[in-house]
Amino acid sequence: MDTPLTRVLGPKTAKVMAEQLALHTVRDLLRHYPRRYARRGEMTRLDGLEVGDRVTVLAQVKSVSTRRMQQRRGTLTEVTVGDGAGSMRLVFFNNRHAHLDVGEWGLFAGTVGLWRGDKQFTHPDCHIITGDDDDWARAMVPLYPASKDVSSWVVQKSVKLLMDDAHSLEQLLDDPIPAPVRERHGLVDLATALRQKHRPESQEQVDEADERLKWDEALVLQATLAARRRAAALEPGIARPSRSGGLLDAVDAALPFSLTDGQREVGEELAAELAREQPMNRLLQGEVGSGKTVVALRAMAQVVDAGGQAALLAPTEVLAAQHARSLAAILGPLGRAGELDGDPSGTRVVLLTGSQKAAVRREARAAVADGSAGIVVGTHALLQEGVEFADLGLVVVDEQHRFGVEQRDALRAKGTKPPHVLVMTATPIPRTVAMTVYGDLETSTLRQLPAGRGGVSSSVVPVGEKPAWLDRAWARVREEVAAGRQAYVVCPRIGDLEDGGGKDDDGPDGADGAPPPEEEKAGASDKRPPLAVLDVAEGLRAGPLSALRVEVLHGRMPPEEKEARMRAFAAAEIDVLVATTVVEVGVDVPNATVMVVMDADRFGVSQLHQLRGRVARGKHAGLCLLVTEAPSTSPTGQRLAAVAATTDGFALARLDLETRREGDVLGAAQSGRRSNVKLLSLLHDEALIAEARVEATALVEQGRGLADHPELAAAVAALALDERATYLEKA
Ligand code: ADP
Ligand code: MG
Repeated sequence: MDTPLTRVLGPKTAKVMAEQLALHTVRDLLRHYPRRYARRGEMTRLDGLEVGDRVTVLAQVKSVSTRRMQQRRGTLTEVTVGDGAGSMRLVFFNNRHAHLDVGEWGLFAGTVGLWRGDKQFTHPDCHIITGDDDDWARAMVPLYPASKDVSSWVVQKSVKLLMDDAHSLEQLLDDPIPAPVRERHGLVDLATALRQKHRPESQEQVDEADERLKWDEALVLQATLAARRRAAALEPGIARPSRSGGLLDAVDAALPFSLTDGQREVGEELAAELAREQPMNRLLQGEVGSGKTVVALRAMAQVVDAGGQAALLAPTEVLAAQHARSLAAILGPLGRAGELDGDPSGTRVVLLTGSQKAAVRREARAAVADGSAGIVVGTHALLQEGVEFADLGLVVVDEQHRFGVEQRDALRAKGTKPPHVLVMTATPIPRTVAMTVYGDLETSTLRQLPAGRGGVSSSVVPVGEKPAWLDRAWARVREEVAAGRQAYVVCPRIGDLEDGGGKDDDGPDGADGAPPPEEEKAGASDKRPPLAVLDVAEGLRAGPLSALRVEVLHGRMPPEEKEARMRAFAAAEIDVLVATTVVEVGVDVPNATVMVVMDADRFGVSQLHQLRGRVARGKHAGLCLLVTEAPSTSPTGQRLAAVAATTDGFALARLDLETRREGDVLGAAQSGRRSNVKLLSLLHDEALIAEARVEATALVEQGRGLADHPELAAAVAALALDERATYLEKA
């Protein structure tokens, strides 16, 4: 399987396959599945083609004529082909394919063009099917993802070569799915599946193959995760039982509200797990505003009470600073042990971020190293070398989707023994994603929002169709401010000199901010650049919001300024904050009640849901206005309407999943440019993934674990290797 393709196909074909399709080994080629199958009579119908489509069609030659060109030297060959449903013209120059015979069938690949009102291919790739071509005897001709110099039939021939040559295909292949598992789920063996996928005789064979090959993907992934869970469980950590009269009790006494039932239940679950030696590895998911921070703080307090330290990792500097500030506020003197007005029975909360001045950072690092800082809040900077903990007992990762497995591992490695880990996500995640991307974690969910929330209503403002609605939006902002509230205006871009149209550095990186679906991006270059914070702020100050205090916030401001701006907004010294997505995650100013999202079509579904969570945090009703130029009937317009119509995070997470490609979603768990997930769909294969999880867990935990299943172990190792390679690349 690891044989290089050069040895099988020869250097020329192998080279273009490697360059253009990233196929290097026999395994790669066998796992390069047909995209679909051509059937005589019912393939891409000629009458259904659109100009600009790049397609392969199966058709019969109807006429061939060659003539000298009048304007130029040389000859022109016109071939008409038909498939019963329609016909089209193929054009070749200088006697290429002048030898085609009427009646021959062939596969023709090219880009559909238009000439004098008729559709045509200009010198398409041709593959004439000869009588003794046994492919032609087949009911279904596989059509492969192809590239410029590697056509579908070159792939087909190459695969065929492997299959024919390998009468030993069975011997060549190590089936990663153990026979009993195959039997239990009625799965064909790997060799059969590959034969049926590449050279099927019926749709039933393809379906059977798909089912089996999806199992491969799911089982290897789940076995990887199960092995990770097992390894974590086998390495004991340190028990951090709760103790009365300590920081936790003080926190509970200081809280200005009573916990929701959900917070209490999850709190008990965490308390019990922290008290055990086996490290906790838990995912806490809860709707935006469900109060996860308090749950985390209470867990951190318990660990401090037990003599350990807790680290809280946030995805942006703004959020890290806010967490440090609000933890310090709740703890009061208990968070300033060692300072003049501090309570010596408390601890210290320190902030550690990448952009701090060297002296500040040095001091923070020292407090982390000598243990005087019981609670450490920070960004990625916490992961860096040189940050040493005296006794790291708990790692909390907030709004986790920016952190991959590797980063979690990096932090975990900072404890002398493995610390407990709590990962928090605000975006409710569909069950399949929980089972895959976070499959190495146990899950708790906060379903309830604290009582007395005003809720948030959302509307789309289609400025293309109803320009006056934008004026109305600014009027709403003025009304809210007049009533003593505050507003956010969110833009996709900063707009300063260094800003080449890119996103905010401190904003979330791609992992979660789902970009709009591919198709919709086409032609993006003709569009005007996205609206920018600096421009919009200036326009508002000079125009509709001239009477209000308007300020900006974005990731490229110096950290102290950012921090000061956020503080001023929290203190209501600013009415309107014009910002990038730095406000997306976790920013908590309950008095802010309106959010206007400019160019809302530039944001992903989950991102919009996160954003509007910022104005649903207080007792007043929140309002979120999604401003867009997209027509309300376009796919983009409808996506925004769907976001406006529901606040059900789970429904939106599903919608988000539909508009993204699997590889994007699985990126965090099993990165790699060539995704190992080709057939499995997080949207449609929930039952299969769940079953594979059960099987994988059993395989890993029974007997000698993966050692009893060397084929599966090899596949798991290959996946892990791939992951590590990409991690190194990213780093
Ligand atoms: P998220 O889950 O989105 O991180 P936060 O933890 O930031 O939410 O909490 C949102 C807001 O709700 C904060 O202002 C917090 O103080 C408040 N809050 C948390 N728990 C409760 C509760 N039980 N009752 C009332 N307000 C609460
Ligand atoms: Mg939060």
